[in-house]
Order: sequence, then structure tokens, then C-alpha cells
Amino acid sequence: MITVDKPTDRTENSLLSLVIPVYQEGSHIKSTIKVIEGVLLENNIIYEFILVDDGSTDNTWSELKSLAKDNDRVSILRLSRNFGKESALCAGLEYASGNMILVMDSDLQHPPEIIPDMVNAWLKEGYDVVEGIKRSRGKENVIYRVCAKFFYYLIYKSSDINLGQASDFKLMDRKVVEAWKELPERALFFRGMSAWLGFERKEIEFDVAERVNGRTKWSLFRLIRLAANAITSYTSVPLHCITLLGIIMFFGALLMGLQTLFMKLSGRASDGFTTVILLQLIIGSAIMTSLGIIGIYLTKIYKEVKSRPRYLISDYIRGGDDSC
Ligand code: UDP
Ligand code: MG
Repeated sequence: MITVDKPTDRTENSLLSLVIPVYQEGSHIKSTIKVIEGVLLENNIIYEFILVDDGSTDNTWSELKSLAKDNDRVSILRLSRNFGKESALCAGLEYASGNMILVMDSDLQHPPEIIPDMVNAWLKEGYDVVEGIKRSRGKENVIYRVCAKFFYYLIYKSSDINLGQASDFKLMDRKVVEAWKELPERALFFRGMSAWLGFERKEIEFDVAERVNGRTKWSLFRLIRLAANAITSYTSVPLHCITLLGIIMFFGALLMGLQTLFMKLSGRASDGFTTVILLQLIIGSAIMTSLGIIGIYLTKIYKEVKSRPRYLISDYIRGGDDSC
């Protein structure tokens, strides 16, 4: 069982850990950290950075090493390959030692200017989770926007978790992160998981800025995979839909059966070829889709049973360490 021993100390001197996943961002990671650091220093926030290189193949790691060498508040982690943002975040959370922990992207799409407000909501108002909520979604094409809406609607309807304009830009109290670390599942969907955890939450709106440099790593295929993973992680409704489909088709079959018998008995049962083809196609595709849905759940169970680690770490350098 997950229990919380004691409330976290909340003082002006509390340490803020910033956990940032970094993948192929070598061209601008240094300037990004500089901008964020500027905001923190200006507001007298005590901080540490945990930067997680998610198996980048560009110069990200060397840039991170030089950051860690010059700045003892920057610790860096390198995963053995690209495990995906969710796993990179998990790895970073393991190494964060602050009483409050902030996760954000490394492309300045999450505006650092609102970090002081988030810290204040934790410090003065006593919230456990302070979440950045997208007021506008930045530059996205119409198809992407419609798909995102539909995806959130599906999750909300089937699992009651309102992801709406949620983002991965959030500040969490130590106890929330400890509770999150206790969750045993391998397949992760950070936004959903933290919504599932609950706790006292506050939302702060922000406008998604444009990416500083580089481009988004989310191809359509990766997004579809993320959506399928998220939906099947939080709800078994698709499985019940299969049962519902079966019931509907059963009643359809009864009707068609009666009609066929009637035609047969009244001696008019010769032209039925179109119906047969249509029925075959409809039933065939329904069965294939249903098997596919069951397959997704099976794969998930298979992966969980294997219980492989969520990520592998190949390097860790603490800020200020001479070895970098
Ligand atoms: N990222 C990561 N691993 C990946 C893909 C992305 O660590 O496999 C990081 C990336 O470096 C960035 C954040 O996740 O800090 C968000 O990625 P991106 O900007 O590509 O996503 P978008 O903002 O378009 O949703
Ligand atoms: Mg981005």
C-alpha cells in the first residue's frame, strides 16, 4: 500500500528539481537552460537540473556534459537508447532530490516565466500538483487538432480522467512523485498517471510557444501509438464495446434469420448473393477489429508480465563532477 509518512517541508529555501527530457536537442539545449536559469535566479529559487538524454544521436550528450561541467546545479543522465519521453521522465524523477519537482520540455514550448507562479502555488497556497494547462495549442494543423480533441474525449468518456488541455508541464510535491514511483506498471502515460493519482491540484494557463529549434519528434504513427497506449492503459471500455457489438450483431442475425426462413418457406429464396457478400464483409471486419483490440490488451499484459525495466541508464554525471 502507498502511504505518505509526513508532509513535505515548504520553505523559501526548498529545492526545486527540474526534470527535463532531452532528445536530439543539441542545437539549442544550452540556450534553453540559460533562459530557464535566468528566470530561476531572478526569482531567488533554489534549483537543480536533472537533464535526461533519451538516447540522442546528435551532439546532445556532449552539450549536456559541458553544461554539467560548468554548472554544479546540473546533473545529467543518459539512457542506453531512445526509450521515449515517458521513460526519460521516469528516469529523471528517480534522481530528483528536491521537495518540489518540475517536469518540462527542452524546447521552450513550456514558458519558464510561469515557474515562479507554480512555485508560489506550492509554497504559499499549499497545492501538491500545479499543472500547466494549454490555453492555446500553438501552431498545429487542423487534423492534429481534431484528432487530439477526439482522443481526449474518448479517454474522458471511458475512464473519467479529464486530460483536456493537460500538458507535461507540471510541478509536483515530493510525496506525489514518491506515490508515482510506487506504481508498478511498465507502459506509462505520464499525463494520465498523474491525473489518476489525484492530490490537491491547481491549474495555471499558458500559451504554447513555438519550438525554439529543431522539430517535433511526434510523427503521426508515434501519436497513434501513444493514443492507443493511453486509452488501453486507463480503460477496458474497448473490450466491452466488442461484447456490445456481438449483441447488436446477434439481434441483426435473428432478424436476418427470420427473413431468410420466411423467404425460403414462401418459395422466393433464390437471389441472395449480394446479401451474402455484404454479411461476410461486415462480419469479417467486425471480427478482425475485435481481435485487434483484444490483441492490444494481450500485448500490454505480455509486456507487463515480462517486467523489463522501464529504461536503462548508461551514464550519470552529478553536477560539478570533475569526470565530465
Ligand atoms: N523527447 C524525448 N524522447 C523522445 C521524444 C521527445 O525525451 O523520444 C523530449 C523532447 O526532447 C522534448 C519533449 O520530449 O523535450 C517534447 O518533445 P517534442 O517537442 O518533440 O514534442 P511536442 O512538443 O511536439 O509535443
Ligand atoms: Mg515541443
